[in-house]
Amino acid sequence: MSARIVQGAATAAAIRESLKPRIVAFRQQAGRQPSLRILLVGSDHASEVYVRNKVKSGSDEGLDVRLERLPETASLADVLAVVTRWNQDDRVDGILVQSPLPAGLGKQAMQQVFDAIDPRKDVDGFHPYNSGLLAQQRPALAPCTPSGVIELLDREGVRMAGARAVVIGRSEIVGRPMALLLIGRDATVTVCHSKTRDLPAVAREGDILVAAIGRAAFVTPDFVKPGAAVIDVGVNRVTDLGEARAIWGDGSPKLEQLSQKGSVLVGDVHPRVADVAGLLTPVPGGVGPLTIVMLLANTIKAAENRIQG
Ligand code: NAP
Repeated sequence: MSARIVQGAATAAAIRESLKPRIVAFRQQAGRQPSLRILLVGSDHASEVYVRNKVKSGSDEGLDVRLERLPETASLADVLAVVTRWNQDDRVDGILVQSPLPAGLGKQAMQQVFDAIDPRKDVDGFHPYNSGLLAQQRPALAPCTPSGVIELLDREGVRMAGARAVVIGRSEIVGRPMALLLIGRDATVTVCHSKTRDLPAVAREGDILVAAIGRAAFVTPDFVKPGAAVIDVGVNRVTDLGEARAIWGDGSPKLEQLSQKGSVLVGDVHPRVADVAGLLTPVPGGVGPLTIVMLLANTIKAAENRIQG
């Protein structure tokens, strides 16, 4: 079997289209654009790229997206002061503080910042209030990446109701909300993590398998039920030629890419899974484009909720 490779771009474009009339309606009603504020602390290279893409995508769609920066040396109080200012600003609909924060702020800083964001403006969906609503299967601002995965499964005609779904990873950002969203779609869900015994056998039960681990090419064909829909959320940078060779084999264009650029991206799913799965999302280009469009969707939802009181 050779899997259908599903790019995220088509689903992302369809969601963008569906957002357009809502943006127009909001502008007519509120007399302004839906607005998103993004805070970037420090100058992490990957964060710079993510933030630039978020600002561009939002602005292209007609949202008022503004970026504010703080230096690497900023204190937690400095970060919280910006969040408080935006919480209190009635013209701000959505607030996003780009993670990770500089390590110097301490391990708990990100959680403290998420906790400080007004839940009505929490477009990342990481505030405990929104996590609680999601856990209770009530309408909420849900995290963008797993929401995008649900949109993609829907669009690709993957039946979730009654399906066995296995999620590898239990983070607050991806794995856990992914499992809750799949439960909400009537899948029978198993959540795996680093302590799961006989992981390949458990993973092989999934008609739908979501990998959100953060380990290059970790999910090999023996993890996959033949014909399963495999969603690769992982984004891992490979810089070692030997590791790249082990993943893609000699003669792969990826090796050429690595020697030219110094690194190459790979998901959590091994490329050979394409021989077993029925559907597979590539990295890059699969889930990634959906995360940003779901951020725009959440911003519009937050803006609509706020003017409706
Ligand atoms: P994370 O917070 O590090 O969580 C990783 C999860 O994987 C944990 O639950 C961990 O288990 C589990 N895990 C680690 N090693 C394992 C092993 N050997 N066997 C089984 N489970 C294992 O990472 P995350 O924030 O969820 O992100 C996961 C990946 O998705 C990363 O590659 C990240 O870059 C990517 N990502 C992509 C997007 C996108 O837009 N495409 C968005 C967000 C994240 P424990 O809980 O037991 O430690």
